[in-house]
Amino acid sequence: MHESNYIADYVFIGLGAANSLIIKQMHAHDMLSTASLVIIEPDEKLLNDKTFCFWAQDEEITELGFASLINHSWERLGINEDAPQPVWPYTYHHISSLTLYDEIRSILFTCNVVFIRERAESIEKNPDACILTIRTPNHTINAKHVFDSRPPRWNPPSTHETLLLQSFFGRRIRTEEPQFDSNTFTMMDFSVDQSIATQFVYVLPFSSTHALIELTRFGASPINYEYAQEQLNAYFKLKQFGNHTIESEEQGIIPMSTCAIKQDQQCDNFFRTGSGAGRIKPSTGYAFKELARDAIHIVKSLNNENPPKRIIQRTGRFAFYDRILLKILELHPHRGKEIFEDLFHHVRGTRVLQFLEEKTSFIEDIAIFMALPKVLFMKYAMKDICANLTRNAIGLLPLSISLIFLLSEYLGLDLLSWIILAIGMIVIGIPHGAIDHVLNIPERSRTSFALFILGYVAKGMIMFAIWIMSPLIGLIIFLLYSMWHFGQAEYEQESVHNKGLIFMRGVAVLSFILATHIPETNAIINALSIPSIPDSAGLLTSSLLSESSVLLLLMTVFIQPRKSMILSTASLLLGIFLPLLQAFGVYFVFHHSVLGWNHLKKGLQKTHMQLWQLSAPFSITAIGILLLFFFITGYTITGFAPLFFIFLSCLSFPHVLEMHSFYGSIFKRK
Ligand SMILES: Cc1cc2nc3c(=O)[nH]c(=O)nc-3n(C[C@H](O)[C@H](O)[C@H](O)COP(=O)(O)OP(=O)(O)OC[C@H]3O[C@@H](n4cnc5c(N)ncnc54)[C@H](O)[C@@H]3O)c2cc1C
Repeated sequence: MHESNYIADYVFIGLGAANSLIIKQMHAHDMLSTASLVIIEPDEKLLNDKTFCFWAQDEEITELGFASLINHSWERLGINEDAPQPVWPYTYHHISSLTLYDEIRSILFTCNVVFIRERAESIEKNPDACILTIRTPNHTINAKHVFDSRPPRWNPPSTHETLLLQSFFGRRIRTEEPQFDSNTFTMMDFSVDQSIATQFVYVLPFSSTHALIELTRFGASPINYEYAQEQLNAYFKLKQFGNHTIESEEQGIIPMSTCAIKQDQQCDNFFRTGSGAGRIKPSTGYAFKELARDAIHIVKSLNNENPPKRIIQRTGRFAFYDRILLKILELHPHRGKEIFEDLFHHVRGTRVLQFLEEKTSFIEDIAIFMALPKVLFMKYAMKDICANLTRNAIGLLPLSISLIFLLSEYLGLDLLSWIILAIGMIVIGIPHGAIDHVLNIPERSRTSFALFILGYVAKGMIMFAIWIMSPLIGLIIFLLYSMWHFGQAEYEQESVHNKGLIFMRGVAVLSFILATHIPETNAIINALSIPSIPDSAGLLTSSLLSESSVLLLLMTVFIQPRKSMILSTASLLLGIFLPLLQAFGVYFVFHHSVLGWNHLKKGLQKTHMQLWQLSAPFSITAIGILLLFFFITGYTITGFAPLFFIFLSCLSFPHVLEMHSFYGSIFKRK
C-alpha cells in the first residue's frame, strides 16, 4: 500500500472509542462484509486504557447497542458522605475499553481489512473525484470515506472561552474487609485538597472489596504522579480502607474546552469523529453515549437516510452554561466544591444527570441555577453575553461607520466623517501596524532591535525605489501584497487558511473599492504619473469594471458565507456611495485594522493598553510624517492622497511580511 491506485471504501484514522463504535454500527447494518477497510492506528489496543462510564435508561442500552459491552452497573449515586440517591430511571454503567476493543477486533477479523500501525500525517481531497488521500510516514492511502478521530485542534481561547483539563489518577484496589456498596458509585467526594484546583475523588465499586478510586481535577494543569499518590494515601487513611492491595493504576486527561475546534476537510465523505468532532461535553468530560449516538447518525448518513446536519461547534443554551461554569472553575477554582455540593444538595440527582445530558427544559434549568451561587453565576453569564456582543460588534463596526458616514454626507456634515476617520487612523489604523517589532521575536536585544529597524526601513526604501523607478510597477506590487494581507486578516478571523481563498477575497475587496470609484482612482494614479484604468459601459451601469468587481465580491461571500464576511461585504457595498478615501478608510481602519488588532491581542496575549504602549513610538513617528505630508501638500485631500498611498505602501510592505510570519506562527501553534 505504499503508492498505489488502490481505493479503500472506508479508512479509519484511529481505533479508539469513536471509530470503534462506528465500526460496530456499520457491522450491525451489514455494511462491512463486502467493503474494503484500512485502519491507521499506532496503538495495538491490547490494554484497558480507559474506563467508560455513563448513565442511561434501559431502552437506550438496546438502542445504542451497549448490552454486550457493559461490565458493571450501579443504581445509586453518592456525593461526599451524603446518603446515596437512586438514579432511576437511569442506571450508571461501566464499559471497559478493552471489552470494546476486543469486540471490534472480533468484527474486523471477518472483514477485508488492512492495519497500518502508524500515525496519519495529512489528508487531502482529490479535486477531480470524491476521493481522499491520507498520508502516513510510509504509506499513501486513497479512500472513498474517511473517519478521522485524531484529537481536536482548538483555536486559542478568546476572553469568554476556557481550556481546562480534567485529569485523573486512579488505583484499582482489593481490600481485605468489605468496604464498598457495589450498587452505589461515588460521583464526587470533595474531602481532598482544594487549594490548587477543584478536586474530588470518584469511586466505582465493583464488589464490596474491589473498587476503582480516582483523584480527579478540573484545572489548568494536570495532576502529577507524586501529588496524586500523596492525596490518595491521605484519602485511603481518612476512609480507613485498611489492608488492601493495589491491582493496577490508571491515569488520563480529558480536555474541557469551550474553544472553537478547527475544521480541516469539509466534504460529504470526510467525517471528523470523537473528541475531534467536539463530542466531549466540556463541563463534564462525558462523551461515550454521545459517541454512540454520533455513530448511529453517521451510519444513517452513509445509508442516505438524510439525518439532520452534524454539528461540530456546540451552540445554544447548554454551550452557554458550559462556558459559564468553566470560566468560574478557571478563575475561582476554590469555588468548585461549593458549586457542586450546592447542586447535589438542592437538586435531585436524577435531575442533575438529566441536566448534564442536556435533556432539561429551560424552566428546569432556571430552577437548577437557583440552587447555585447566584451572584457568581450572574456575573459570568453577563460577562459571557457582553463578550459575545463585543465579538459581534467587531463585525458590525464597519457597517455602522459606513452608515454614519452616509448620514453625515446626507446632512452636509462631511467634516464629521473625516474627523472619525482621522481618530480611527490614530487609535487603531496606524497602531495596528506599529507593533511589528515584537511580533515574531517578543524580547529583542539592542542589536537585534537596531537590525530589525534597519531591515524594516530597508524594505520600505526598496518599495520607495520601485515607486520612483516605475510608479506603475510600484502600484501593482502594492496592490498585490495589500490584497494578500487584507484577505489573510479576514480569513484568519474565520480560521480558514486556504491560500487561494485568501488571495481571492483580498483581490475582490481591493478591486471592488477601486473599481467602484474609477474617476477618483484615476485622479490619484494620474497624480502618480500612471495612466488611467480603462473602463467601458457595463450591462446595467456605465462601468463594466465596477459591475465585475461587485460580482467577484459577492462570489467570495457565496464561497464562504461567514457572518463577519457578510457584514464587511455589506459595509463595502455601502462604500459605493462614499468618496474613495472614506470607503477605503472604513475598510482599512474599522475592519482590517480592528481584525488585525484583535489577532495581535490574542496572539501576543496582551491587553489593549499594552499594545498601545508598544506601538506608541512608531505610531507617533508615522503620524508626524503624515502631518508633514499634509502640510507640504497644502492641506488638500487630492494633493495628499498620492503621497499618502506611497507612504502607506512603503510602510505596509515590511508590515505585511511581518504579519504573514505572525499568522503562520499562530496557525502552527493551534
Ligand atoms: C482516560 C479517559 C477516561 C474517560 N472516561 C470516560 C467516561 O467514563 N465516560 C465518558 O463518557 N467519557 C469518558 N472519556 C471521554 C471520551 O469518552 C474518551 O476520550 C473517548 O475515548 C473519545 O473517543 P475518541 O475516539 O475521540 O478518542 P480515543 O478513544 O482516544 O481514540 C483516538 C485514537 O486515535 C489514535 N490516534 C491519534 N492520533 C492519530 C494519528 N495521527 N493517526 C492515527 N491514529 C491516531 C489514538 O491512538 C487513539 O487510539 C474518557 C477519556 C479518557 C481520556
